[in-house]
Amino acid sequence: MNEFFNSISRRKFLLTAGVSASAVFLKGCLGNPPTTSNSGGSGIQAQQVANVNPEQKLETTKVKLGYTPIVESAPFIIAKEKGFFAKYGMTDVELAKQASWGSMRDNTEIGSAGGGVDGGQYQMPMPHLITEGLITKGNQKIPMYVLAQLITHGNGIAIANKHIGKELSVDTAKAKELFNGLKSSKDPFTAAFTFPHVNQDFWIRYWLAAGGIDPDSDVKLVTVPAAQTVANMKTGTMDAFSTGDPWPYRIVKDKIGFLAALTAEIWKNHPEEYLALRADWVDKHPKATKALLKGVMEAQKWLDNFDNRKEAAQILAGRNYFNLPTADILLEPFEGKYNMGDGRVINDKTKAAYYWKDEKGSVSYPYKSHDLWFITESVRWGFLPKDYLTKAKTLIDKVNREDIWKEAAKESGIAAADIPTSTSRGVEVFFDGIKFDPQKPEEYLKSLKIKKVTI
Ligand code: CA
Repeated sequence: MNEFFNSISRRKFLLTAGVSASAVFLKGCLGNPPTTSNSGGSGIQAQQVANVNPEQKLETTKVKLGYTPIVESAPFIIAKEKGFFAKYGMTDVELAKQASWGSMRDNTEIGSAGGGVDGGQYQMPMPHLITEGLITKGNQKIPMYVLAQLITHGNGIAIANKHIGKELSVDTAKAKELFNGLKSSKDPFTAAFTFPHVNQDFWIRYWLAAGGIDPDSDVKLVTVPAAQTVANMKTGTMDAFSTGDPWPYRIVKDKIGFLAALTAEIWKNHPEEYLALRADWVDKHPKATKALLKGVMEAQKWLDNFDNRKEAAQILAGRNYFNLPTADILLEPFEGKYNMGDGRVINDKTKAAYYWKDEKGSVSYPYKSHDLWFITESVRWGFLPKDYLTKAKTLIDKVNREDIWKEAAKESGIAAADIPTSTSRGVEVFFDGIKFDPQKPEEYLKSLKIKKVTI
């Protein structure tokens, strides 16, 4: 919510809360709009910054992060608005709202020097694809580092109201007649995601294929920017879409559709979107990278306290960020309350979005086993050639910098119990009983009936 902070005094606060801003100083301000009396401390703060041990001095206090206005971006917005970036010395973090995932890719390629971004929020495996030059202009290879996972859950599959009452839910096998009927019509079932070959594409494909619907031949899949999804569903040009909150839930509130499934129902505690930065930025600014990570981690912990979720929803809904008519659209899903719009009501805190920890362990830590699932799923649908199964380890070791996450966590005093000891989260289980063992990705592919790859 905009009125939370007067932008001018807020800016002063961010500039004055330097590297060594004491916890007492920050605690006194957080949750309250900074008053002019806070800026009275600027002299002391400036002195403290100046006295910082040169070894700890950050290479820069400035970074530009791109984000998409969905709940995945909350750790960035909260870290900025609650002063967590500033607390660790990153006093000039610019958050740049992206019009589409295509813009995010292009702005990454340009970099902040050219008016783009240094990194930010990514669907997977975008950082790997950019590193390999597979989605950049002229196939230019731009090495990137994955530094943290931002969120789990918070995504869903929305369906247009005209399909209500046709048994379209988590198990698509029950709606086979609907899909078969539309397949032969001139208007096949059209499902949208926000960028091809990444998370949202994978969720909709997994959901369809688990029930025996072939996403490549039984339906039509299209790419639509998140902000346009509601409009397209209203005009009837789209039967389904897969994206992050608040978009699926908005269509329920606006009475134009319902939710067939939450991603939390398809794969409980699944990997979702990530913080990644251009490798050249990280290599040049190793201390600033860790400071940025510490701010993100603190925001993630703050977000997981359900007492803070009302305030979080209000901040995110503000005009500068998601620009929503009401924060309730965010708050209900944030509390695990989903009116699915077809009579089904979910009230289950374990299906809410989590940012720091979930039932399976760390959310923030970027498990390499999850990168491997995204690469394996890319092979499943023919988005990447089969040899990526053997190339995956080298690529993941290059892109996934869980080592930097661990260093930042240790430096900021994160409890040892919250720092994973293995880069693998172990065997993953999907709602249809399919298992992904990171030791045996080929076995996972063999166990799937619908796939493009021959294995
Ligand atoms: Ca997402």
